[in-house]
Amino acid sequence: MIYTNELKKVIVTSNISISANVYLLSFKREFKFKPGQWIAVGLNATDNPRLYSIASGVDNDEVNVLYDIKPDGAITPNLAALKSGDAIYISKPDGSFYCNNGKGWWIAAGTGIAPFRSMLESGMAKNKKLLHGGRYLSSFYFEKEFADVLGENYIRCCSQEKGNAVFEGRVTDYLKDLKQLPSDENYYLCGSSEMVVETRDILVDKGVPFGNIIAEIYF
Ligand SMILES: Cc1cc2nc3c(=O)[nH]c(=O)nc-3n(C[C@H](O)[C@H](O)[C@H](O)COP(=O)(O)OP(=O)(O)OC[C@H]3O[C@@H](n4cnc5c(N)ncnc54)[C@H](O)[C@@H]3O)c2cc1C
Repeated sequence: MIYTNELKKVIVTSNISISANVYLLSFKREFKFKPGQWIAVGLNATDNPRLYSIASGVDNDEVNVLYDIKPDGAITPNLAALKSGDAIYISKPDGSFYCNNGKGWWIAAGTGIAPFRSMLESGMAKNKKLLHGGRYLSSFYFEKEFADVLGENYIRCCSQEKGNAVFEGRVTDYLKDLKQLPSDENYYLCGSSEMVVETRDILVDKGVPFGNIIAEIYF
């Protein structure tokens, strides 16, 4: 996606690896945003920036961005090399992946967990069930935070490793196995286009109205 609006310089306060090839970048918060929104991030003012969901709470002092390195990517290998004190260039927050306080399902794959972490830290986890899909047991970023608040309503679906009480398979396998799904709740989906389309088809097949499915597609 080409993002052409103006970018503003901010200083990185930390950029730590939280799992293999996965990083959490932080900088001081100087703007307001809504949980679920994204910012564009570039390494210089004239870059073609990439979009990243904000992964931190609306009242936190710092903004967090969760990303994984695409080895052939234009931005992420360079993002991963940033140190505290380096500059990045960000846009104003934007987007429309909003969640209400009613009963609902958060369904994420990989780094698609980022907007739900913002919602969690912004106090929106009440009445929510979270399905997080990851390849490995180490793919469940922020798992302690989610487990502490959501308890049994936090379900990790692991496609390539077993153990640690995870559901063995993808989020789509988990959903297919369910006999019934509530049709009066919202379903918030975040991940790749394949994951979102496949998940949406399953939900609709099981009687969830199309209008109750709200999606953020990463690429
Ligand atoms: C609204 C929105 C929010 C997003 N939020 C996040 C976020 O919170 N965290 C995050 O990690 N990414 C997020 N993304 C994806 C992000 O914008 C970049 O596409 C991604 O970080 C890769 O950037 P890059 O410059 O390194 O790779 P690019 O140069 O853009 O692409 C390199 C290669 O990687 C592939 N690729 C690009 N993106 C992905 C991806 N996400 N997964 C797998 N393969 C990919 C491309 O097809 C290409 O082959 C978001 C995208 C959108 C549209």
